[in-house]
Amino acid sequence: MTPLALPTFEDVRAAAQRLHGQAHRTPVLRCATLDQQLGAQVFFKCENFQRMGAFKFRGAFNALAQFTPEQKRAGVVAYSSGNHAQAIALSARMLGMPATLIMPHDASPAKLAATRGYGAHVVHYDRYSEDAMAMARQLSAEQGMTFIPPFDHPHVLCGQGTAALELFEEIGELDHLFVCLGGGGLLSGSALSARALSPHCKVYGVEPEAGNDVQQSFRSGQRVRIPTPVTIADGAQTPLVGELTFELIRRHVDDILTATDAQLVQAMHFYAERMKMVVEPTGCLSLAAACHAGVPLKGQRVGVLISGGNVDLQRFAQLLQQNPTQD
Ligand SMILES: *Cc1c(COP(=O)(O)O)cnc(C)c1O
Repeated sequence: MTPLALPTFEDVRAAAQRLHGQAHRTPVLRCATLDQQLGAQVFFKCENFQRMGAFKFRGAFNALAQFTPEQKRAGVVAYSSGNHAQAIALSARMLGMPATLIMPHDASPAKLAATRGYGAHVVHYDRYSEDAMAMARQLSAEQGMTFIPPFDHPHVLCGQGTAALELFEEIGELDHLFVCLGGGGLLSGSALSARALSPHCKVYGVEPEAGNDVQQSFRSGQRVRIPTPVTIADGAQTPLVGELTFELIRRHVDDILTATDAQLVQAMHFYAERMKMVVEPTGCLSLAAACHAGVPLKGQRVGVLISGGNVDLQRFAQLLQQNPTQD
């Protein structure tokens, strides 16, 4: 096995330069009520306000911006049921290259429409009987398109790391940083930024309790595969952490925490009611763990990375009707 060449914070910095003027510099918000409840200073980095509604734009754009002219001509292929598809489609349009997205035929109509709206070609697959990764690799082999995975890619994870870079640049060092976690692109990139800009900051990944594959992997030191978890956090239904992302997580992350679906609904409720924000269930993981995972935060400076805000409004309303205080 060839050793993995691990990206460094310098690569995250270079990504930030590529994204300058292309990605939104998203706001860092505060909430006095929450600060009082926790006895802490909490800083929310709001990637729900990023272009296309999630941090995924950062990684996709950073990857596509590094294509050679030849790669640009043949275009990009990716698979995703959600935000990665929109991120690739939008980035490809901005950079003037064709994009093919392999998406489940039962993906949310809003996400399919948004992806097509950015001018991408959508190919459907059946998520229970077909292998999207194999389809992407086949298109890539037959038509010369470059395959960009959703998290396990150095350019993708370094792009994702620019959100935390901006957070530290804006507010200085932190004691704790909570990051939403699926395949680990956002977490590994954030950890590179934290280690460089706030070396003592404890960095936590937060995944759904129903799918704690990264927690199991982190504790055992080996990547653990689980069946696709059943959770409302649809952006974190990954069965297996990335190879590259796991190496970085092992080196730079302090712990992996989990949140239940009920805690996610409670956090979603909080964001809507107190901060007037729409945050998708997966984007609620970080706050849910800050409030419920038992990390002592009194007197501390705490970063909460909100990963995205793309949720069907009907679904949003449905979820908010569930009792927000049940645990
Ligand atoms: C993709 C995604 C995640 C998980 O990101 P990874 O880089 O796969 O860990 C979390 N939240 C949202 C909103 C996402 O779209």
